[in-house]
Amino acid sequence: MDSIVLHFIVIMSVSGILSVILSIIAHANRHRYIGCQLFMYMSGATAIYIFGHTFELLARTPQEITFWVSFQYIGLPFIAPFSLMIVLQFTGFHQYVTKRRVILFLLIPILTTILVFTNSFHSLFYRSITMNTVDGFLLADFTIGYWYIIHGVYTFGCSMLAIFMLLWFLRVKREYLKQVLILLVGILLPITTSFIYLLGVTPFHIDPVPVVMFLTNALYLWAIMSFHLFKLSPIAMERVFEHMSEGVLLLDRYRTLIDYNPAAALIIPVLAKKGIGYKIDDIFSGIIKEPAFIQWLRSPQDHSQYDLMWEKEQPFYYHLTASSLFNRRGEVEGRQIVISDVTEQRLLQEELERRAYIDGLTNIFNRSSFIERTQMLLEEDAQDTAILLFDIDFFKQINDTHGHHIGDEALRHVVSICQQHLKMDDLFGRYGGEEFAICLPHHSFEEACHIAEQMRHSFEVSFFQTDEKKVRVTASFGVAHTANDPSILETLLFEADQALYMSKRQGRNRIYASTGSDYMLYQK
Ligand code: GH3
Ligand code: MG
Ligand code: MG
Repeated sequence: MDSIVLHFIVIMSVSGILSVILSIIAHANRHRYIGCQLFMYMSGATAIYIFGHTFELLARTPQEITFWVSFQYIGLPFIAPFSLMIVLQFTGFHQYVTKRRVILFLLIPILTTILVFTNSFHSLFYRSITMNTVDGFLLADFTIGYWYIIHGVYTFGCSMLAIFMLLWFLRVKREYLKQVLILLVGILLPITTSFIYLLGVTPFHIDPVPVVMFLTNALYLWAIMSFHLFKLSPIAMERVFEHMSEGVLLLDRYRTLIDYNPAAALIIPVLAKKGIGYKIDDIFSGIIKEPAFIQWLRSPQDHSQYDLMWEKEQPFYYHLTASSLFNRRGEVEGRQIVISDVTEQRLLQEELERRAYIDGLTNIFNRSSFIERTQMLLEEDAQDTAILLFDIDFFKQINDTHGHHIGDEALRHVVSICQQHLKMDDLFGRYGGEEFAICLPHHSFEEACHIAEQMRHSFEVSFFQTDEKKVRVTASFGVAHTANDPSILETLLFEADQALYMSKRQGRNRIYASTGSDYMLYQK
């Protein structure tokens, strides 16, 4: 009984049982791991093939042999297309593994099975079957027919395509080397063995493929158990990674960029030239001149964050979070940087903040922020500071004659004229409805009156166009200065207001200034 054939039978039985176990494991996990459903079918088909082959070797009559050979073909033709579909899923081409396409993939295998079972009517698969007795075992020898070649080419084609896909995938994703190698060996082993068998060098011309299937299946089983072959599904991870709106940079422990997603490439265009393989500080040091940021990139701290303002064609605001990546033993393997574009929120926040101190109609300081800033300025340095107040003359008439919107236009018009006479340090605010306040630091009393006069004159000689006609506005001014009055804002504002009141009473479109004890008309 210790014949070679018996050894084959024992190994094949173990191989068959392993395939059944694999199929059961895959079935139990079919909803958890991607690819498990197909893997279950593939192991099932392998089990049928192996058991058919085992019983073929044990068969005693030519009829029994023919039956078990046909039985093998319920499983055999399906193994290669299933393994191709598994590879397609693994490498991210799962859109090709829809229900309808699976049927297309299996069309030739189904025909093969049918033709094998009906071979005695057409001899398309086997042209002839002859029986030999080896070592006391009855063995069949087959002469192949036309369909056998089609079946062979298809099986070989599926395997070649799967190998090609795996090698292509490996070029892009080196980190899946182990998984890819396991799948490659799993596919290559039976193919190579088939070739050896077809060359006719196997003992007694027994098909050794079911025996190597033992190895293949053991490898798959080991791979599933140790590497979670289909658990860390590359495609699922890949999909999330590729479609995230946040940019993600993956670094190894030496801060070398090992991967990034399309969102990151959009945020950091330089990645197209200086990307994978470059040190992260090198990538950024050429484009961000912020030492604190480069420092942050170099810091190994986990869960650290950085808010970056990046001046591109316009300013962009990014919120970056860096966290450590650990391997299974809990050691730091690298770093992940997630970049969120917060420009929109940031601009919105700035706009809200701006609205708190800027007058919406004229875009200059509102009353409270004008007072606050002037106060600060006076506290810093009260020497030679002037306060100007002016109020548009007969503004009610402009509203009444031309409408409120033209009144608004007039307010913007006077503001833009005043701005032409002001410098960076000067403060300009809307003090009331059509009343404005100006603070002029580092100006003598004379200079301040002169600027007021320039403004008054500009109003007088300019106009703005409405639909119907040109509108001209004038204003009355009041000036107070720290050289004449105490450097207290309330006092200065009060004195300027009194001077303004004088301008109105004396006929408008003029400037009165407080001299401390009195108010004088300013004339050039
Ligand atoms: P006076 O020469 O004495 O200053 O006369 P006046 O008509 O300018 O004075 P008054 O203070 O009586 O009128 C100010 C008017 O300004 C009343 C108000 O309806 C108008 N006003 C206040 N704020 C706005 C605004 O934001 N837009 C417009 N269009 N009008 C405004
Ligand atoms: Mg007025
Ligand atoms: Mg007024």
